[in-house]
Amino acid sequence: MPDMISFIDLKAQRARLKDQIDTAVMKVLEEGRYILGPEVTELETRLAEFAGMGRALSCANGTDAILIPLMAWGIGPGDAVFVPAFTFASTAEVVVLAGASPIFVDIDPDTYNMSPDSLAAAIASVSEAGELTPKAVIAVDLFGQPANYPALAPIARNAGLKLLSDCAQAYGSTLDGKASLNWADALTVSFYPAKPLGGYGDGGAVLCKDETLFAIMKSVRVHGEGAERYEYARIGLNSRLDTLQAAILLAKLSVFADEIHMRQRVADRYKVGFGNVVKTPHVLAGAQSTWAQYTIEVDDRDEFRAHLAEQGVPSAIYYPIPLHLHEPYAGYPLAPPGLPVTEAVAHRVVSLPMHPDMSDSDIDQVIAAVTSWKA
Ligand SMILES: *Cc1c(COP(=O)(O)O)cnc(C)c1O
Repeated sequence: MPDMISFIDLKAQRARLKDQIDTAVMKVLEEGRYILGPEVTELETRLAEFAGMGRALSCANGTDAILIPLMAWGIGPGDAVFVPAFTFASTAEVVVLAGASPIFVDIDPDTYNMSPDSLAAAIASVSEAGELTPKAVIAVDLFGQPANYPALAPIARNAGLKLLSDCAQAYGSTLDGKASLNWADALTVSFYPAKPLGGYGDGGAVLCKDETLFAIMKSVRVHGEGAERYEYARIGLNSRLDTLQAAILLAKLSVFADEIHMRQRVADRYKVGFGNVVKTPHVLAGAQSTWAQYTIEVDDRDEFRAHLAEQGVPSAIYYPIPLHLHEPYAGYPLAPPGLPVTEAVAHRVVSLPMHPDMSDSDIDQVIAAVTSWKA
């Protein structure tokens, strides 16, 4: 039986960037500005530059990054926020934390991102019921691929809703060469270590183009601070990014564009190697994915995963149970007629090893394991 390869290999990246990161970390320790130090401001400048638009505000994690704009927009009790159910908990959790109601929307069967038709149906049904006020849409750029913003944005605009891109897995992704912020009012990032741009701890950021929104979000980030310190203009959070994480992220951001290419190379080899044995990811025309996950679909998933494991190939399931089927989220409305696509794909998806440092032999081992399934 072959040795188990890595699903994500953070050690290989650490070896590549060791000198740069160690120097950056020591500099922060020597300088002693541990909170909102100069590296934090520098990172914010670089994050906006990399996105090619807007301004960036760093924060404590990718969950707060979504909560901060919702709070800045004043979204709360009686408001409806439209979210997919095929996502990580944060996307819907922050809506409930803000006091509003998530409305679960179905996904496209090929990209796994929010379905424009299901969004339109959900907005119509909430408006008709008249109990909640539609306020915002949170589209998730799942597995690294941008949602279909050219289709989603007009639906949100026409209904007078804010559009937020939960880009936790997809910072650096583009559609026709542009970041999702080109269509969205805000774009949020997670620096959780396993994300494509990950730190060595928790961290996040939110990007926007509107200066007024930026100023309010900056206040929300630090306890709702007003013009003076210890003067409060609103209820806020303690959601600062550590200077140490910013220094580490600056080093990682300097090679991030190359790493996206390295991930694309793995995805290209997988696609050719797998042929028609499994359903491979469908990327929208004109889209660049960051390949946070390489997710395929199979019948008999459990047997397939056992077969992969025997061949030394680890796999994971993102996400086994859609959010609306978990007890804390079960009471919230669904887009009519329900979420059939979400519920079907949750039983079929499997994510395969994916990271920038995958060797040719690791890639070959995955291809051999997948193509020998039922061969
Ligand atoms: C990881 C993730 C988040 C939350 O990020 P944290 O930094 O872990 O708080 C939010 N949304 C999606 C889609 C994610 O994958």
